[in-house]
Amino acid sequence: MINAQISELKNLLKTPKDIVIVPHRNPDGDAMGSTLALYHYLKLYNHNAIVIAPNDYPDFLKWLPGDDTVLKFEMQQDECTTLINNADLIFTLDFNAFHRAGNQMAEVLESSTAIKIMIDHHQQPDDYAKYTYSDISMSSTCEMVYNFIEMLGDDDKINAIIATCIYVGIMTDTGSFRFPATTSRTHQVIGNLIDKGADNSQIHNNIYDTNSYSRLQLLGRAMQNLKVMPELRTAYMTLSQSELDEFNYKKGDTEGFVNYALSLKDIIFAAIFIESQQDQIIKISLRSKGEFSVNEFSRAHFNGGGHTNAAGGRSDDDMATTLNKFISILPQYKQDLNQ
Ligand code: 5GP
Ligand code: MN
Repeated sequence: MINAQISELKNLLKTPKDIVIVPHRNPDGDAMGSTLALYHYLKLYNHNAIVIAPNDYPDFLKWLPGDDTVLKFEMQQDECTTLINNADLIFTLDFNAFHRAGNQMAEVLESSTAIKIMIDHHQQPDDYAKYTYSDISMSSTCEMVYNFIEMLGDDDKINAIIATCIYVGIMTDTGSFRFPATTSRTHQVIGNLIDKGADNSQIHNNIYDTNSYSRLQLLGRAMQNLKVMPELRTAYMTLSQSELDEFNYKKGDTEGFVNYALSLKDIIFAAIFIESQQDQIIKISLRSKGEFSVNEFSRAHFNGGGHTNAAGGRSDDDMATTLNKFISILPQYKQDLNQ
């Protein structure tokens, strides 16, 4: 984002505006952390700001400051549509294509005449925003929100509440500061956030140490279902709808499971296939280490995308057909996987 755009935005934000802030569908820690951080920041300037999530998110995010103010488009469609239609500004955070807000919300966003501002770190951004702050080298959208506030000259406005929200997204998107996009700058930002009052230990506890017994049992089942293809340095697991039901699945329960497959020695490509009866799809999460791009793999074969080392996708076929497709595609990547 260039200086001229920053001063334009600063100007725009000088007087109170009606502002809608949107994360992607099935929001994760970075999506909710970044939108709520921005919400609290804008509230300092008396903007009429609101976060509208496309749908619900996991319980382990429901302690975030401001959680009780978040509207969910799928549950409050009329109210949310009115707010979007009346907005002066719409911030879209942690995604870069309207369809990632879900089809119905995407339509409403698309037809709105509000000034759009995108802040995002995913690859291949669409061109819908008047102001686009897109940087695929960033650890998280939360780190970018920190930068954004700093660019507006307001780092001293970052209080403990804003710091907490930003901390959450950086922590969750970096796998607790271990993925390659974690830079020294990321750690400097984290240091500043702690100085501003983010309670790192408590935040970690709130996100990661709230497991239910049934979630751990479900993890056990996913581990039992793990398949390894050493010659392709690939490992994958599955969870069927009946297995999810058996262990009383709740939104967010499978978060992070795929990383166990990636933690196997010599494995650089990992996938988890999760059946969703409700959406009539197999939801796919893909992870890799090094150069192998799961973003490209997902775009090419599974209607998805994301980052080089973390992407999502979907299949409209049943589990067996989806797995067959996955297994039959892999050999053409044998060289890439063995580099
Ligand atoms: P996850 O596997 O955790 O759902 O997603 C991994 C990463 O890929 C996240 O950054 C997520 O935002 C992105 N992602 C997940 N699904 C999709 C998708 O269908 N399309 C795109 N473009 N990105 C996705
Ligand atoms: Mn993110």
